[in-house]
Amino acid sequence: MYFDILTIFPDLFPGPLAESITGRALKEELIDINPVDIRDFTQDKHGNVDDYPYGGGAGMVMKPEPIYRAHRACAALRGELPETVMLTPQGETFDQDMALELSQLEGLVLICGHYEGIDERVRELVVDREISLGDYVLTGGELPAMIVIDAIARMIPGVVGDERSPRQDSFYQDRLDYPQYTRPREFKDLRVPEVLLSGHHSRIERWRKKKALKRTLARRPDLLEDADLIEEEQELLEEIKEENAASMKEEGGGVGDNIDR
Ligand code: SAM
Repeated sequence: MYFDILTIFPDLFPGPLAESITGRALKEELIDINPVDIRDFTQDKHGNVDDYPYGGGAGMVMKPEPIYRAHRACAALRGELPETVMLTPQGETFDQDMALELSQLEGLVLICGHYEGIDERVRELVVDREISLGDYVLTGGELPAMIVIDAIARMIPGVVGDERSPRQDSFYQDRLDYPQYTRPREFKDLRVPEVLLSGHHSRIERWRKKKALKRTLARRPDLLEDADLIEEEQELLEEIKEENAASMKEEGGGVGDNIDR
C-alpha cells in the first residue's frame, strides 16, 4: 500500500516509521511512504506556502494552489487516487475500524496542515475524508499522518509477523487485550498467574477471554455495547458481572480490574 504525504516537512518521513515493524514493511515493500514536498509546487519566486487570512486574525493559512498542484501530481503518477485524507482536529476521530477499512485500499494521500490550517477550498476540491487524532490541537499534520500510517500498516497482511497478533489487540474485536506476562515467573513478589504456566490451552484461552472482557467492562464498557460476543463470551461476561456484584457487596466498594492470580 502506498502513502503519498503532502507536507511542507518531507524530511520528517519516514522518521520513526523506518524502525521496527513498519521499517521491515518498508524494506519488504509492503508499504511505500512517499513524502511530497508542497513547496515544490509553489510558483512564486519565494516558494510561499502560506499567506495572511482573509478577514484578518492571528496566524497564517496554507495556500490552496501548491497543495492542489501537489495533489494533481499524485493523481498523474498513480492514476485514480483511492482516497484523499486531510489530517485535522475537526475530522472524525481515528480508530481501529477506520485503520482496518483504510488498509483495504491500494493507497492513500494524506494532507498535512500547519499554522492555522489549510485554505478551505482544498477540502472542497480534493479531500474525501477528514481525520482527527483526538480532541487536542497539534502544531502540524505530520505526527498524525505517521500514527495513521502505523495503525493502517499493521492491518496489512504480512506486516505484523504473527498474523494472529493484530486480531488479539485491543479494539480489534470490540474489547481490550488481556494482560500479558513473560519471564521471570516471579518479579518483586508478583507471580505470573498459575493457569498461564499450566500448558492447558483451553483453560488459558478461557482465562484470557475472561480477563479481556473483565478489563473492558471495567475500563471501556462502551465497547461491549455493540460487541459481537459468542455464547462462551456472553457466559463469561455474566460470570464477571456476578463476581463484581458479589465483591461489591462484600467490600462495599467499587470494582477494579486487578488480576486475581
Ligand atoms: N486552526 C485549526 C483548528 O483549530 O482546527 C488547527 C490548526 S493546527 C495548529 C495545524 C495542523 O495540525 C492542522 O491543519 C492539522 O493538519 C494538524 N493537526 C492538529 N491537531 C490535529 C489533530 N488532533 N488531528 C489531526 N491533525 C491535527
